[in-house]
Amino acid sequence: MRHWPLWTLRRSALAYWLFVDACALALVVHVIASSPQPQPGEIGRFAAIAATAGAVIIGSSIHSHRMGETERNPWAAHLCYLAAGVLALPCNLLVLLLFGPALHGVLAQRPESHRWVFTLSASALAVFAARYAIGWEQPDLHLGALVLGATVLLVVRAGLISVGLKLRSPGAPGEEVVGEPIDVVLGVVAVSIGGLMGCAAVTDAVHALLAGPPLALLERAAQLPQWRRSAQRDAKTGLANAVHWDGRARSELAKARVRDRPMAVMLLDLDHFKRVNDEVGHLAGDSALSAVALLLTGTVRSGDLVGRFGGEEFVVLLPDAEPAVARSVAQRIRHAVAALAVPTVDTHGQEHLLTGLTVSIGVATTQRFGYELPDLLVAADAALLAAKGYGRNLVEMA
Ligand code: GH3
Ligand code: MG
Ligand code: MG
Repeated sequence: MRHWPLWTLRRSALAYWLFVDACALALVVHVIASSPQPQPGEIGRFAAIAATAGAVIIGSSIHSHRMGETERNPWAAHLCYLAAGVLALPCNLLVLLLFGPALHGVLAQRPESHRWVFTLSASALAVFAARYAIGWEQPDLHLGALVLGATVLLVVRAGLISVGLKLRSPGAPGEEVVGEPIDVVLGVVAVSIGGLMGCAAVTDAVHALLAGPPLALLERAAQLPQWRRSAQRDAKTGLANAVHWDGRARSELAKARVRDRPMAVMLLDLDHFKRVNDEVGHLAGDSALSAVALLLTGTVRSGDLVGRFGGEEFVVLLPDAEPAVARSVAQRIRHAVAALAVPTVDTHGQEHLLTGLTVSIGVATTQRFGYELPDLLVAADAALLAAKGYGRNLVEMA
């Protein structure tokens, strides 16, 4: 228990996560203790909702496994049948439905169990908040109440989780904390299908089966953000890959040309990086690349575009940067890389603190080379070569 990753959380995050978990547990115990025995009709609805959702989630998981796709959390499907349960089930059977995400957390053997326990607790609190909003004993199924319930479910769940993520890593970008717009769309679609499923189950339990196909489609669609991210990002560093960076850089340059704003392109190449691989090992080399990527995103402004250009080469587009600003940003990066200490493991399995990394940087600006990306890259590359020629660990302006 002393080795649980939970204890590595910052103190404020730990207190908040445990508070959310404790509130959810207390609420679940209260609901189980205070609810009357469910009627046979209600058990039938529960069985229809659980069977439909279970068949879709298991079927989708088998399909993903066969296709060699990475295992992911089917959160949209969980949200869907929980929304149906909010409308159609008594509170104690709603608790039973929460075993769905819990079971997934256990069976999928997620490495950070405290994470899924926390999101499960947040979901439980959101589910009961939604139920409270539409009527605890007898839910109101009029349109206004349905919209209110769906909104409470989504907002409370997203609010509780995003506060937890923000406390865990205060510097995390917004999309990691609150999700991307597509995640919001998926959440809305999930509760909408859940609403239809719940209403159908209230009319006749077996009608819940009709929600199976749209739920299966939702499950597939929920993969889209992950596919897009993996197509756009470099897996090793998490930065934009060369193709994605190229596309975004061209579009930013086109906008800057219209507005007549200055821009700069910075090409960076780690010095003597082959030595790191040869002397400490390729895994250490990979750790160094990740550390430099993190340093770059943390050192530039949020509107600047950082990408992995090639092996140990990075590229940064700096909007609204006059040559003097671009040079000072490059110098700041150069100093920060020189001060970097990366904890790694060497080829003998021994811990090794990697220091002494340096970087050479070539900078080209739109004021001298115009707004065509290839021209800027050629100029920055020539400046980078010059920096290498002058002895490395240098910034050169094209
Ligand atoms: P220079 O100062 O002239 O740039 O020397 P260098 O050794 O950095 O340059 P060179 O281009 O000869 O070697 C680049 C090395 O970067 C070769 C390769 O082993 C290493 N490298 C490229 N991509 C990766 C990667 O993804 N992981 C690791 N570990 N090493 C990489
Ligand atoms: Mg290189
Ligand atoms: Mg190099």
